[in-house]
Amino acid sequence: MRGLMMDRPLLIGPLLHYAAEYHGDTEIVTRTTEGPIHRYSYAEAERRARQLAKALKRLGVGFGDRVATLAWNTHRHFELYFGVSGIGAVCHTINPRLFADQLRYIVNHAEDKLLFLDLTFVPIAEKLAAQWPCVRHYVIMTDRAHMPETGLSGALCYEDLVAAETADLVWPEFDENTASSLCYTSGTTGNPKGALYTHRSTLLHSFAVCSANAVAISMRDSILPVVPMFHVNAWGIPYAAAMSGAKLVFPGPKLDGASLHELFTSEKVTLSLGVPTVWLGLLQHLEQTGKRLDGLQRVTVGGSAAPRAMIEAFEEKYGVQCIQGWGMTEMSPVGTLALLKAKHLLRSRDEQLAIKAGQGLALYGVDMKVIGADGTPQPRDGKASGELYVRGPWIIGAYYNDEPATQAAFDEAGWFRTGDVCSIDADGYMTIVDRSKDVIKSGGEWISSIDVENAAMGHPDIAEAAVIGLPHPKWDERPLLIVVPKPGRQPSKESILDFLGNKIAKWQLPDDIVFAPELPHGATGKVLKARLREQFKEYRLPTA
Ligand code: ADP
Repeated sequence: MRGLMMDRPLLIGPLLHYAAEYHGDTEIVTRTTEGPIHRYSYAEAERRARQLAKALKRLGVGFGDRVATLAWNTHRHFELYFGVSGIGAVCHTINPRLFADQLRYIVNHAEDKLLFLDLTFVPIAEKLAAQWPCVRHYVIMTDRAHMPETGLSGALCYEDLVAAETADLVWPEFDENTASSLCYTSGTTGNPKGALYTHRSTLLHSFAVCSANAVAISMRDSILPVVPMFHVNAWGIPYAAAMSGAKLVFPGPKLDGASLHELFTSEKVTLSLGVPTVWLGLLQHLEQTGKRLDGLQRVTVGGSAAPRAMIEAFEEKYGVQCIQGWGMTEMSPVGTLALLKAKHLLRSRDEQLAIKAGQGLALYGVDMKVIGADGTPQPRDGKASGELYVRGPWIIGAYYNDEPATQAAFDEAGWFRTGDVCSIDADGYMTIVDRSKDVIKSGGEWISSIDVENAAMGHPDIAEAAVIGLPHPKWDERPLLIVVPKPGRQPSKESILDFLGNKIAKWQLPDDIVFAPELPHGATGKVLKARLREQFKEYRLPTA
């Protein structure tokens, strides 16, 4: 028997309309690429998104066409999220930190028709335009007064395009499974791969992210997404904020600790989200200046493992709840969040921190299974580890136009292979051991580079740490620890080994430690292990 409920599509255009209708005077604040602070409301944002949508149509953008962005987190980028998807076109956000070769590949693979770009990225586009024959128009996301001299032929001005249109567009209705946005993985191995989201997947993901067991977003929040809008749609925050009527604060190009702190204070930010490197920068700034984080209630950390010391610093020193999340581009991205259950509130602080330093519980909608090296499902005992497979309504079912990548990414039952090695405990809490390619295989045992890094980053003189496996004649591989000391500090190898000795098992201790002024970071803020392995490939461990 079929139920008798209305079959209304979940669509992105009407999502912004909801925000404009019920949270019309709630602010969206931006530190613009040009410099000054810009502020307006959801009502104005929707009006301008509709004007933009009309401009897109005038430029020949049709249903399913890809419209690319190379842009910071700003109100204009927000308008593109809704204006492009709202008319059934696909908003393709490009990560400008990718290598030129990847940028060339992505635009051609997506066959982007239009490319919207911030002033910052005009030089990149000028260099690559000749290799992007599919792009018909470049639109510079600024006003007439700031339009640069550029070699981009026929470059258009964003504000002129918007101003030329009226706002009388009504968001069209179409199938909720229509593609809405496109995001490529950073492709540490091989070419980047495209995750093509739908309106439905985006809206379902937003419901999940807003819920109290996730990021708990409400209309009383003021949210500053540090995570870029070119990195998995800023973890879905622009949509989730519109859904809950939360104030949005966009940091533009300035992501350093001082600039973020300024916006946290002036805009009474309650929630902020970003990768660990961003928070390292903020915490260092606070340490150096003695500033506090008044008003900020919670930060969400994801993209790489949040070191326990970071969680402790936020919660104990600054009174800010620190929530670790895990996910991937292919998962829209959120899969799990590390929050405490009622029974955990009675446990010791140490036990609570151990839970928060893990990756947490799956959101409703995300199914998980762990498959061991022998191909069998692993028990949920918190010990047995294996590769994590997932499925759910906001997880990709295939890569965009990439049959070989798709073939490799799914098992026969259609589960997506994450490439992460993890364990799950009896309560369902998941802990990432490592990415399968980063785990160190030492004498038949696995050493989690994440565990050793986490422990090292608790050392008072260490700013950042990374561990890689180097070849060893007896053990196969042994860990090398690469350490970036905090400014002005010079920890000795012995002091670090002593410190680690109390935190991890003896056989997991690094065989050697090297000091570096900085670590190489990839386009999404992760430490580039492949680069480190390359850099240290001639390095001989003293034990080898
Ligand atoms: P890319 O592959 O482009 O770097 P993502 O940004 O989608 O892509 O990264 C997803 C990967 O990041 C996950 O598979 C996992 O290895 C890692 N990751 C994300 N969040 C966490 C976390 N909280 N702890 C440990 N690893 C994480």
